[in-house]
Amino acid sequence: MLLSCLDDDPRMERTLRRFAGALGHEVRFQTSSDALRADLSHNQPDLIVLDLSLGAETGLDILEWLVEHHPQIPIVFLSGQGDELLDTARRIAQGNGLTVSGTVNKANMVRELPDVLARRSVPEPPAKKTPPPPQAEAPLDVDALRVHLAAGRIEPYFQPIVSARTLESVGAEVLARLRLPDGTILGAGAFIPLAERSGLIMEVTRVLSERLIELAPQLKPLGFDFLSVNLSAANVQGEDVAVLIKRLVDAFSGGTRIVIELTETAMLSDLQQMRALTSQLRLGGASLSIDDFGVGYSSIRALAELPYDALKIDLSFVAEMFDSEKAANLVDSMLRMGHSLSLDVVAEGVETEAQRDRLIAMGVDRLQGYLFGRPMPIDQLVCSSDQADQPASRAGSRTGHLTGSGRDSRTDFQTASLADSLTNS
Ligand code: C2E
Ligand code: CA
Ligand code: CA
Repeated sequence: MLLSCLDDDPRMERTLRRFAGALGHEVRFQTSSDALRADLSHNQPDLIVLDLSLGAETGLDILEWLVEHHPQIPIVFLSGQGDELLDTARRIAQGNGLTVSGTVNKANMVRELPDVLARRSVPEPPAKKTPPPPQAEAPLDVDALRVHLAAGRIEPYFQPIVSARTLESVGAEVLARLRLPDGTILGAGAFIPLAERSGLIMEVTRVLSERLIELAPQLKPLGFDFLSVNLSAANVQGEDVAVLIKRLVDAFSGGTRIVIELTETAMLSDLQQMRALTSQLRLGGASLSIDDFGVGYSSIRALAELPYDALKIDLSFVAEMFDSEKAANLVDSMLRMGHSLSLDVVAEGVETEAQRDRLIAMGVDRLQGYLFGRPMPIDQLVCSSDQADQPASRAGSRTGHLTGSGRDSRTDFQTASLADSLTNS
């Protein structure tokens, strides 16, 4: 691999050459941003190593130029000024569409630099091409949504949630999809925000609950401990919602609990109303989970005020766990806080085995994410559960196929991915 490095301290050249050379990389060293610009224009490196403090200029000054001229070359940031600054620089670069392969604190260079460089030696998998969303051409309008809802075109998709102890599916989150008459499936992002803005969200929840009740005879034998259903701020203002959820709880009684996932945006509405509603939901037999924890403003207040049973750490923290110690420490703090309040802690957005293993080591109770399965329609959910109950897979976990092991698992996972890539754009 060819590295082009920019650092105003010429002593760094030796250090960089030593570490990079040991890994078989070639280093070109520059001490000014003009020299780096000239270097990049005649021979493109595989990686740029950029010091943040460059005397009169800063490593950030050159980012704009990189965005314009070489947005595809990944960067490693170096700094002697601590992790906070490195973390912010990474966010600025990523926010501008650049790839950041890692950050190195000069104080820990001996430990961090070889790791970052070794990580880069592994070729990146080619970027996944997601097909353009089918809805891109004609965005949904309120009238069309109203017609679809009247025709009952909301479909529940199910994403497995696994126990951190056994890695078996213990439940699933229900995610709403809209099936258009031509068979196209729209993801939640295509109609939930519109439904929330236009006062139709209650209708979405009503149709979704009816579909779930119809599907109860297929869902109950799967033996899930719980099914999680999302409620938005706008739902919370309706009085009927408690009645609706009570019907759902009753339809699944005798085995499968109903967990209501409330987002923090829901908390912004009237607190008094929230107290009444959450109590009614609990009294009606549902459990309560605080969703997207950590991204809003009112989460800790909400924990203090309302009767939650579980806390779901927002996927943005999981996604950043290995990019920033700060994000990992925040995950750890949220876990401790959740546990100190006797809440079950769920991590969502788990995409890699490394994230799974670190979260389990930290003590998370349940995990959810593409690593274990994408949101899928009922047929696929039932089918993957049947396969997991085959004698061959019984030796492993009940949901071995969802943890990505075995041949069937892969087929299954790919089908799920295909179905979901069409819906989750
Ligand atoms: P959410 O409740 O935070 O749901 C999790 C979202 O993360 C889902 O997106 C899911 O597909 C996605 N996800 C799951 N695992 C991973 C992963 O490993 N990596 C990544 N990058 N993403 C992952 P989806 O289905 O598009 O839903 C988006 C949002 O729409 C939901 O966020 C929820 O707030 C809302 N929503 C979905 N269904 C309903 C519903 O029935 N009612 C209401 N009120 N809101 C809903
Ligand atoms: Ca949710
Ligand atoms: Ca969430």
